[in-house]
Order: sequence, then structure tokens, then C-alpha cells
Amino acid sequence: MSEGILLFIEQRDGKLNRTSLETLVAVQKIAATTGDTTSAVVLGQGINEVATEIAAKKLAKVYTVEDDKLATYTPDAYVGALKQVIEKLNPRMVAFSHTYRVRDFAPRLTAALGKTFVTDCISFRQDGNDTVFTRQIFQGKINTDVRVQSAPPIFVSFQAGSYRADLAEVGDAPAAVEALAVDLSSVDVRTQTEAPFQEAKQAVDLTQAPLIVAIGRGIKEKDNIKIIEDLAAAMGAEIAASRPICDNEWLPMDRQIGSSGQTVAPKLYLAIGISGAIQHVVGMKNSQTIVAINKDPEAPIFDIADYGIVGDLFDIIPALTAEVKKAKGE
Ligand SMILES: Cc1cc2nc3c(=O)[nH]c(=O)nc-3n(C[C@H](O)[C@H](O)[C@H](O)COP(=O)(O)OP(=O)(O)OC[C@H]3O[C@@H](n4cnc5c(N)ncnc54)[C@H](O)[C@@H]3O)c2cc1C
Repeated sequence: MSEGILLFIEQRDGKLNRTSLETLVAVQKIAATTGDTTSAVVLGQGINEVATEIAAKKLAKVYTVEDDKLATYTPDAYVGALKQVIEKLNPRMVAFSHTYRVRDFAPRLTAALGKTFVTDCISFRQDGNDTVFTRQIFQGKINTDVRVQSAPPIFVSFQAGSYRADLAEVGDAPAAVEALAVDLSSVDVRTQTEAPFQEAKQAVDLTQAPLIVAIGRGIKEKDNIKIIEDLAAAMGAEIAASRPICDNEWLPMDRQIGSSGQTVAPKLYLAIGISGAIQHVVGMKNSQTIVAINKDPEAPIFDIADYGIVGDLFDIIPALTAEVKKAKGE
């Protein structure tokens, strides 16, 4: 019998990756239209807290898989363990969030099972018995619908920011947590993971920031970034940027938003002097509220903005900063 939809929960050092909750929302929405049961699986060592946290959500069951070989992430052990879990549970669909780790091991897992992997999806729709997934191609210029014709399970990953983690439904009662045994004795772990390090000293995970103030080429020169820093400090926001700003080394690369930077979905995204090129937009379009400031009323960023201010940022930003400070009583 099929176990419905199985969601892979990503954790690092016993801490849940927030994008797993976004994919949980996708899974819950699919299940609401298909009637599938939904369960989740988490791998590692010392994962009780993550399992309990996820079990509070609306899920039929949370499976935990603990093994010495899963203490630190390696693609070999993850593929070995998940292959056994999937063979045991026989789900109709296996869902992941499209993280770097998933990109590392999931293609190998699906190939090992001879299945299709529909990657980096942004939405789905139900068409009869088929779940049709939408994914972007050509740097986000075109959306394509993908229907999987091979036998289940279907493997699918969702892009960060496609669904809102805070909309995950909570269950009436916590889901049962069940430990699943796997035998990894024959799994040859061929990589040894070194301690994690941050390439840039200031490396920041913008995906976790609720408020983002992003600047583009409209800022004109590096020294002008100071006015944006003042606004961000007053708002308690993180600074981000379009690619030219990072290419010019005016801000570090880890602040870049877009197809070759981070994908974010904060509560508020303030786009200042950013034109709204598709490569930038794919990284921020799922923000809950987008406010754009641009002197060109025809700038494409206004197409996706909830609020737009047409004007010169050098007039608007200092005035905005002063208002924010006034509102805070500073
Ligand atoms: C393969 C590839 C990958 C890419 N990846 C990314 C990516 O990850 N992220 C990314 O951002 N880009 C990326 N790009 C680049 C992207 O195509 C755009 O060139 C870039 O996003 C433009 O940045 P911008 O909006 O800051 O600059 P511009 O397009 O030059 O826009 C500047 C805007 O500022 C406004 N402006 C100027 N002066 C003022 C002022 N005084 N007050 C108010 N507004 C003002 C202008 O009206 C204009 O709209 C990529 C491109 C390619 C080909």
C-alpha cells in the first residue's frame, strides 16, 4: 500500500532547515487536493528535537532514522538510508526543498531507484489524477509544466520561497514519531565531511531575515551605500543587493539576491534603485511585501511591487530613515 507523500526534513546539528517547512506547506496543499496521507522523514543522530518540532505540524507520521553513519551528512549514507526508507514505505511522492544538500544527494537517490526527479519547482496544480509541477527555465523567463509519466514514486523538489513556512498547518494532536531501522553496514561512505566553514567572514543567511533592504545600481557609487546602511540599521533589516553591486565588490557576494545569488522570501523586501531584471526578481518575488523605490516609473520592478515610490532615492532614503527613527522615538 502506498504511504502517500513522504517529505524529507533537512537538519544540521539537530536544527531544522526552515525551507523544509516551506516544502511541508506544498505537501500539505497537494495532499488537500489528492487526499494523500503525508509523512516526514528525518535522518541523523540526536534528531529528537527536530522530530518533535515537525511532529507538531499536520502530518500522519514522522519517521526518524538514526545511525552512526548519518551523524554527519554524506551523500553515500543519505542515499543508502533513504533508498531503504522509500523501499519500505512505498510512497507515491517524495518531496524535498531544493537546498544545496538535496542537489548533492537526491539526483543520485532517484537514479539509484530508476526514477524521475522534477527539480526546483515553484508550484503545482492537480489535473485529474496527475500532479502537474511548474518550474522555471531560461533564467526564470519561461514557466514550464511538468507531468511525470513514469511509475511512482515521483521525486520533486521545491524552490526556497515558493511557499510560506508560516502557513504550515498544525495538527490537532502531534504526529506519531516512529524510529525506522536501516542497515548501512554495506554502504561504503567515500567522502569525509570536514568541519563547516564560512567562505566570507560576514557570511549571512539572508533566507532567515524577516526584513531586507536591497540596493541596486541606482546607488551610483560605493560611498553612497552609507545612506542605505543607516536605513537598514534604523529598521533592523539586513542589507542585500543586485548583482552589479556585488560584482563591483561594493558589498560581499553573500549579499547578492537572484538567480546566481540567494533566494529569499522575507516579510518585507525594499528594492531601492533596482530595475527588476528577471535574474534579480527570481530571487525575491515571493517576498510577502515588496516596496520598490525607483526614479523610472516604467521600471519592471514596479510590476511585482506591492507599493511603489517613483522618485530619487537620494531624496527618499534619508527622509525614510528619519521617519523610521522618529516612529521609534529616536
Ligand atoms: C546569467 C546571469 C545571471 C545573473 N544573476 C543575477 C543575480 O543573481 N542577481 C541580480 O541582481 N542580477 C543578476 N544578473 C544581472 C541582471 O541581468 C541585471 O543586470 C541586474 O539585476 C541589474 O541590476 P540593477 O537593477 O541594480 O541595475 P540596473 O538594471 O542598471 O538598474 C538600476 C535602476 O536604478 C534606477 N535608478 C537610477 N538612479 C536612481 C535614483 N537616483 N533613484 C532611484 N532610482 C534610480 C534606474 O531607474 C534603474 O531602474 C544576472 C545576469 C545574467 C546574464
